Amino acid sequence: MSRTRGVSRPASIAWPERKLRVSELHKFLFEGLPVRGMVVRLTDAWVEILRRRASNTNAGAYTGPVQNMLGEMAAAAVLMQSNIKFDGSLVLQIFGDGPVKVAVVEVQSNLALRATATVLGAVPEEASLSQMVNASNKGRCAITLDPKTRFPGQQPYQGVVPLFDDHGHPIEKISAVLEHYMLQSEQLDTTLVLASNDSVAAGLLIQRLPMAGTGNLAGSMVSRENEDEIGLNEHYNRIAMLASSLKREELLTLDVDTILHRLFWEEQITRFEPMTGPTGPRFACSCSRERVSKMIRGLGREEVEDILAERGDVEVACEFCGMQYRFDPVDAAQIFTDSARLGASGGDVH
Ligand SMILES: [Zn+2]
Repeated sequence: MSRTRGVSRPASIAWPERKLRVSELHKFLFEGLPVRGMVVRLTDAWVEILRRRASNTNAGAYTGPVQNMLGEMAAAAVLMQSNIKFDGSLVLQIFGDGPVKVAVVEVQSNLALRATATVLGAVPEEASLSQMVNASNKGRCAITLDPKTRFPGQQPYQGVVPLFDDHGHPIEKISAVLEHYMLQSEQLDTTLVLASNDSVAAGLLIQRLPMAGTGNLAGSMVSRENEDEIGLNEHYNRIAMLASSLKREELLTLDVDTILHRLFWEEQITRFEPMTGPTGPRFACSCSRERVSKMIRGLGREEVEDILAERGDVEVACEFCGMQYRFDPVDAAQIFTDSARLGASGGDVH
């Protein structure tokens, strides 16, 4: 699963659809400066998220604006998880007051991720973020950190920010919502550039490092000294301005080497080994046909026969990824035949 190096492709040509690159995450530091950065490109992982949703005959594929919002959230969630290195899951959610009720991305500490959105109304083709999730300025963005191992009574940490700025004006970019969040929670300047289409979800993060120590959101180092630095570090400001000049189209189509060279060719950058394949961002959901079979077996033969008589098949969709599992009468009969054959050992049936 290693990345092929040395193969240069013209930037203007999109990757062939059938030949998906493996999703990747790149980290780097600006030498001698209190600034670090990351670039994420979700390709195979993002396409799998879209594929599962599109194959769901009830929900159907996302429309363009919803797809792009969820893709930007997915890229951002991976960046945030690797930024704080939280041992547990990071869940980025938007609770909307428009046609999109919920959009959620979950990223584990090993960068496995899944995402889904619940859409209950018509979303116009050119819908803005507000039109989708903040129609009455009541939309919210929540970041939840759920530790892998919890102490008794321990609750997951959750931070919530509105989808409007300090003056009450709606924010129209996921990146701006999250920059706002990072400033509030970490007291650190952060610049995010996000973009997504139907084959790539990508993001660039630039962050000013804490002045003293190595604390960050996980270490919750919030000092007065740090707060005073906000917006004032000239190195960060220069690099952030370069980062902000990255265009959506460039982020979607250029490889990471080209992006970094184009933006920061005058800076001294130290890069780390790219994270891809088993160590990189990748799709994972705990659902499977086998799990659903067990659940159907748990319903009992009679109940399942009733459903088959009424609908013709049994259909179950995963609430976390949208994957739809369908069992026709033959499949359903097979579940009970298998369970009969397993006999008394079918102890997983409740
Ligand atoms: Zn699933």
